[in-house]
Amino acid sequence: MSSADVILVINMCVAGLLAAAFMTIAVHGVGRAAARWLAFGYVLGIVYCVIEFSIPAFANARPPVVAAFAVFLAATIAFNGGLARKYDVTPPWVPMLLFLVFATVAVYFVQDLPRQSLVRMMAYQLPYAAMQFVGLAIVWSSRQRRGWLDTILMAVLAASAVQFASKPFIAGALGGWGANPQSYLQSSYALVSQSLGTVFALALALLILAVLVRDVLAEATSRSETDMLSQLLNRGGFERHAKLALRDATRQGVPVALVIADLDHFKGINDSFGHASGDRVIEIFAAFLHDAAADHHVAGRIGGEEFAIILPGTNLAAARLFAEGTRSAFGALPIEGLPADHRCSASFGVAELHAGEYFSDLLRRADDALYLAKGSGRNCVRVSTGLTVVRQPATKAGHTDWSKSV
Ligand code: GH3
Ligand code: MG
Ligand code: MG
Repeated sequence: MSSADVILVINMCVAGLLAAAFMTIAVHGVGRAAARWLAFGYVLGIVYCVIEFSIPAFANARPPVVAAFAVFLAATIAFNGGLARKYDVTPPWVPMLLFLVFATVAVYFVQDLPRQSLVRMMAYQLPYAAMQFVGLAIVWSSRQRRGWLDTILMAVLAASAVQFASKPFIAGALGGWGANPQSYLQSSYALVSQSLGTVFALALALLILAVLVRDVLAEATSRSETDMLSQLLNRGGFERHAKLALRDATRQGVPVALVIADLDHFKGINDSFGHASGDRVIEIFAAFLHDAAADHHVAGRIGGEEFAIILPGTNLAAARLFAEGTRSAFGALPIEGLPADHRCSASFGVAELHAGEYFSDLLRRADDALYLAKGSGRNCVRVSTGLTVVRQPATKAGHTDWSKSV
């Protein structure tokens, strides 16, 4: 057994293990469609190794050589299909399959050329390089290409493509790839080529596994921080994101404000129109907040019918205007499922972060301001300008009263 034989056995085992790993994900995990194609790609990798081993047994090597080429190219196509599924890009199946047919026919005919000719070697290697570039283009074109793992994956795909394209020259430097296909595995080139194959097969598979794990964790975190009824952040998620937003705003030296809102007489809505109608009002108010919020705002449902939104880059006056706009727009809105003349309302408390304050201080002051709004007759906005809000009796509702803050 030559050294290249040993590497080929190792390759077969590696492909088998990777196929098993992706099959396990395909059965159990998120990203199933991607994992199925990746598993199929690595199964084709095993088939390729088996054909490669059988070549010396053939008197006429052309059929198994062409088959080995086609199977390995099909493996890179299946791999690209998995990448496309993972990165939410439509896989270019038709061009890739047409390319498979075209390249296989070309490899069939270049068998008539001298074995060490550059054209013959390029006919083998350039299609592999092209498929790795297609994989790179898939990741590149994806909207989900967002982190350093994706960048490393693209770099490894590029390196793999370069590796395939440079193989004819490596073969030249190492004295060729055997006098005939049957003696390929005895050549030094086969040893180098198969070893590179192991490295890239492993690197690409581990990177994609890491990408899958990263995305599964991100989805699990997002789900655990999302409130199902309102689709806003739940209390835990809001607190975590709010603290991050406060930290960023403090570092950047920009103001940051918190608006909290509580639906008015909500128990009455439940009692009069039913719990389902109450849920609907919560959904509608949440959608209102969501639409009013910019991408960098952090909106959450922090209690049954209590909501909060962090406004980075916003001072107290601007946050009050935001709250006022939301209050008046929501208060004018007919609610589907409730009587046509019925209007719901919410009360708002607003506070801006002072130097040296923590999230809990900001929340307490905004909550105090909200308490003041409730005491002022509801359907109004109250602001906290000082470190504490003095709780005072109600005045006319429906507008901001700055005198109720200190
Ligand atoms: P106020 O104007 O003082 O805020 O009065 P309120 O009736 O809105 O206040 P309270 O906090 O006493 O009542 C809130 C009610 O919200 C009590 C609870 O049954 C109801 N609630 C909490 N979560 C949900 C929910 O997810 N769906 C529905 N339909 N009701 C909920
Ligand atoms: Mg309420
Ligand atoms: Mg409440």
